[in-house]
This record gives sequence, C-alpha cells and structure tokens, in this order.
Amino acid sequence: MKYQALKGMMDILPDQVWKWQFVESVSRNIFNRFNFQEIRTPILESLPLFQRSIGEETDIVQKEMFQFKDRGDRDVVMRPEVTASVVRAFVEHQLKDGKLYYIGASFRAERPQAGRFRQFHQVGAELIGGKNPEDDVLLLKVLTALLAGLGLRRYQLKINSVGCQTTCRPEYRKVLKEYLKQKHAHLCENCQRRIETNIIRIFDCKVEGCQKAIEGAPRVLDHLCKPCEEHFAKVKELLDHEKDIPYQIEPRIVRGLDYYNRTVFEVSHDALGAQNAVGGGGRYDTLVGELGGSKDIGACGFACGMERLLMALDSEEGFKTEESAQRLRCGLIYLCVLGGNPELKTAARKIQGQLRGADFRVEELAAEDKPLKKHLEIANRLHALFVLILGEDEFREGTVSVKDMNSGTQEKIKLDAIETYLKGRLVSR
Ligand code: AMP
Repeated sequence: MKYQALKGMMDILPDQVWKWQFVESVSRNIFNRFNFQEIRTPILESLPLFQRSIGEETDIVQKEMFQFKDRGDRDVVMRPEVTASVVRAFVEHQLKDGKLYYIGASFRAERPQAGRFRQFHQVGAELIGGKNPEDDVLLLKVLTALLAGLGLRRYQLKINSVGCQTTCRPEYRKVLKEYLKQKHAHLCENCQRRIETNIIRIFDCKVEGCQKAIEGAPRVLDHLCKPCEEHFAKVKELLDHEKDIPYQIEPRIVRGLDYYNRTVFEVSHDALGAQNAVGGGGRYDTLVGELGGSKDIGACGFACGMERLLMALDSEEGFKTEESAQRLRCGLIYLCVLGGNPELKTAARKIQGQLRGADFRVEELAAEDKPLKKHLEIANRLHALFVLILGEDEFREGTVSVKDMNSGTQEKIKLDAIETYLKGRLVSR
C-alpha cells in the first residue's frame, strides 16, 4: 500500500518552504507597519457560521465545504475562508481593536486544477470598526503595500461597488432579472437557476455563453442609492490622492459571497491563466450584526491566496529563485575539519557552539573524516553559503579558512574575529 496526500492537498517540501516563509515574513512586516495584529482562529468551525455569513445560495456553501458530523453529532466545517471566523472571534471576545490579520489554511472541495487546490492558504486582513470610505482606502493601502513588499508588479487592482442590501441590490436585481430573462436560453443550467436564487453570481460564471449574455447587462454601479454612490465617489477620490495605488473600475466584479456591500475589489495577475485572482475582498457592513455583534459596526477585509501569490511571484523579474539567492536566504555555515587530529575536532566543536550561540545557522559537524572535496560537495547540496575549513595550518595559526560558496573566493580569518566577519558578510549582501 502506497500512501499519498489527498487530491488537491499539497505537501510543501523543505526546498520550497523558504518561499512560504518569505511571504509570511513580508506579510507580518507590512501588517506590523500598519499596526494590524495577528489573529489565529480554529480550522474547524460550526456549520451555521458559514451558512449565515457566506450565504446558503453560494457554491461554497452548497457544494464546496468539507463538512461532517463530529463524534458528538455536531455539524462542523473545515473553514472555507477566514473572514467569518475572524468576525465570530471579534464578537465572541468583544475585541476593541479590529485591525486584524491572519495567515493560514482554508479548505474548499473544488475540482483541483492549476492554481486551485482543496487545501489552500491565505494571507488576509480585516478592518472591523468603521463604515467610512477612509477605511476602504486604508485596507487597499495595506493590500498594495503587501503586494509591493513581496515584489509583485504586474497585477491589476479592480474595484467596484455592489451597493447596499437594503436599497440598491433589490432594485438592481429586478432590473438584471428583466434583462436576463431575454437571455435565458443562452445561460448555463446553473445560471438559469441563479436567476431565481442568487442572480448577481452570474457575473462570476466562467461559461462562455453566460459571459456573452452579461456583456450588455445593466451595471450595479448605475443603480446605486445616493449614500452608496457618495461612498464610492469618496473612495475613488481618496484613492486618487494616493498616487501609488493604481486601480481600475470594473463594474463586473461582484464577489460571490452574500456578505459584501458597497466597495468590492479583486487583484488579478496576467501570469496566472484561468485562475487569475490573486486576492479579493470588500466591505461587509452587516456581518458583525449578523453574527451577534452591534449592527453599527462596519467592516472591510481582503484575502490573498498564497499559492497564487507565489505563482505570480515566480513569473516576476527580480524574484530570486536561483541557487545563489537561496544560499543567501538560508545563510548556512558548513564547518569542516581536515585530517584526523582529534584536537582539531574539539576546536571545531567549540567554534560550532560559539557560532550557534551567536545566532548563526550551522550544520552539524560531520562524524567521519572526509577529504575537502567531499565536504564541499555536501555543503553545496545543502546550499551552504560559507564553508569554514579548519586544517592543521589554521589550527596552529588560530585562524579558520572561509570559503564563500557563491563567489568561490576563500580567505583566512582570525578565530577571535570570525563572528564579526561573518556578520558583516551576511549583512552586506
Ligand atoms: P475568494 O474569497 O474566494 O475570492 O478567495 C480569495 C483568494 O483566495 C482568491 O483570490 C485566491 O487567490 C485564493 N483562493 C480561493 N480559492 C482557492 C483555491 N481553491 N485554491 C487556491 N487558491 C484559492
């Protein structure tokens, strides 16, 4: 019997994990600059949480959730997204500061394909507390700072407003329904059903006939009530002041989940193919109230797919995946002893301990003696940045030879200066 990971679920192996750590550390750094705090919520949540928040009539709730009965016969769900969990935690713990971010896995039983997995990872932020357009813009500032921090350039940020649930949407649904009735025969079976259940989702359908049918459809932007129109105008005005947030208005972006209102947005990347959304989000002013909190608390948020971010980054110039960059990133030191003199080994162990104590990353000293060539082969395989060589000469002189594995150069350094030397070399890179 051969065991394999489940369909659509990936192992992230050690030779790739640095990329994940890179995205995680850049994300933490950017969120920190904006004073967003990390929140970690459980993977498993109760079924009604998502039925209530995402909406019964969505693909996620109807078809894509990993849901089951636990041993106590309770309906539980592996979270298909994180926003609902964060809002639940915000309400449950009566948090005061709603500037929150998360990094973690979500699960959707979709048909796996390039860029689409059943376990995927998101980095996201929620700004719970206000209903002002300034908040939408702050969130978009955080999002674009994150993308820039990662080195992503060839992306498009598209924004739209889907209005409010009370005035704009009921009105718009009627107009859209009227229009789509004439196109009924051109719609896929799902969308024919959606006309009755969740008509706005038709904009998200990838079937060609449906895409064509909605080309000339009325736009929700033209059916906003006065307050929603003013809100969107203010968001655009503020965004225009921020010179470094390039955005386009895209009236077809509606975001499928029920909880969105007013501003919605998506980030796409042209290197990604069919699944080209790197991230998305928007305002969700009614969710806190829906989940038991105060109805006056508005909120907005975004989530980026980490797999997609990495795929996009791989296509960007300047994202260094090559060997030399990998060495720099891990900064590994490989220490070796030449000849069989046990005194040298003792000295080398001391250096090893001293360097680890000073926070360097040091491979464990080899148990067996080997010729230098063998040591270098191993160091190379481990992507070591420096090889420290302690031979009889070095031992006598109180030095160690340091070979830079990227440049191939080698020099002798006094043992009492080795820490400062290595630190300097690591920082100057
Ligand atoms: P959504 O809220 O569905 O728009 O998800 C936010 C982001 O998560 C998307 O823009 C994708 O980058 C990512 N994402 C969503 N579903 C998947 C999936 N099944 N596999 C990989 N990434 C996903």
